[in-house]
Amino acid sequence: MNRVCIGITCGTFYDHDWCPPSIGHRKTYIDAVVAAGGAPFLIPSIDDEAALRALYERIDGVLLAGGGDIEPQHYGEQPLPALGVVDALRDRTELPLVRWAVADGKPVLGICRGAQMVNVALGGTLYQDIPSQIETSLNHSDSYTRQDWTYLAHPLRLSPNSRLRQILGSDEVPINSLHHQSIKTVAPGLRAVGWAPDGVIEAIESANGHFLVGVQCHPEALQSATDPRWRTLFRRFVEACARFKDRTAE
Ligand code: MN
Repeated sequence: MNRVCIGITCGTFYDHDWCPPSIGHRKTYIDAVVAAGGAPFLIPSIDDEAALRALYERIDGVLLAGGGDIEPQHYGEQPLPALGVVDALRDRTELPLVRWAVADGKPVLGICRGAQMVNVALGGTLYQDIPSQIETSLNHSDSYTRQDWTYLAHPLRLSPNSRLRQILGSDEVPINSLHHQSIKTVAPGLRAVGWAPDGVIEAIESANGHFLVGVQCHPEALQSATDPRWRTLFRRFVEACARFKDRTAE
C-alpha cells in the first residue's frame, strides 16, 4: 500500500556565521510520522508561490512544526519588546499552506508554533509573551529551561467532546511545555479544546469536522517513550490523510 506523504514545514537553522543557513527540522517530527505509517516530506521555506503550490499538491496532509515567533503584523499587532526571534520567510510559507489545506479539507496537524500558525492564518491572535502579558504561576518554558524535551511541565485539560480527548482517551494528560507565546483569540472556524491549569489555551480543533488539530505541547518528543498515548494522534492524522487521499483520487 502506498504511504501517504505528510508535508512537514521547516525551520531555518544557523550554525556558522560564514555559511548560508540550513532549512530543515528536528528528527523527532520525522520519526513520529514514520512510526505512524506516513512518509515525511520536508517543505522548505520558499518565496515562490507556484513552487510552494506544487509541493502542497503532492502532499496528503500538512504538519506545521514548532519554531520561533510569528511576526505580529500577521495578526494586526505591533511587536512588543519581549517578542522573540521571527522567521519572515517561514511565515510567508506556512500562511498559504494552512489556508489551502482548510479550503481543500486536507488534514492539518499543528505543533507548538504550528498551532499558533493555524490560528493566525485563519484570523486569530496570539499573546506575544506569556510572562509579560498573563498573570500566571506556571512556567510554560520549563522543559526548555531544563533542556529536556520530555520534561512534563504541566497538565493539559481537555474538553470532553473534543477529537483530542477521544484520541488520547483521558480528560487530562501531563505535557511538556517549551513556549512563551500562546493563542489569545481563537480564529473563526476553530474552537479551543485544551487548556493549562492557568487558562492558557493549549489545544485547538476545527469546529466543522475537518481533521485540523493544534497542540501547544510537543507530542513528537513524547510519543516514542514518555507517553505512547500521543502515538494515536499521529496515527489518526495519517489515517485522516489516507482517507483524504482516497476521497480526492481521480
Ligand atoms: Mn504550556
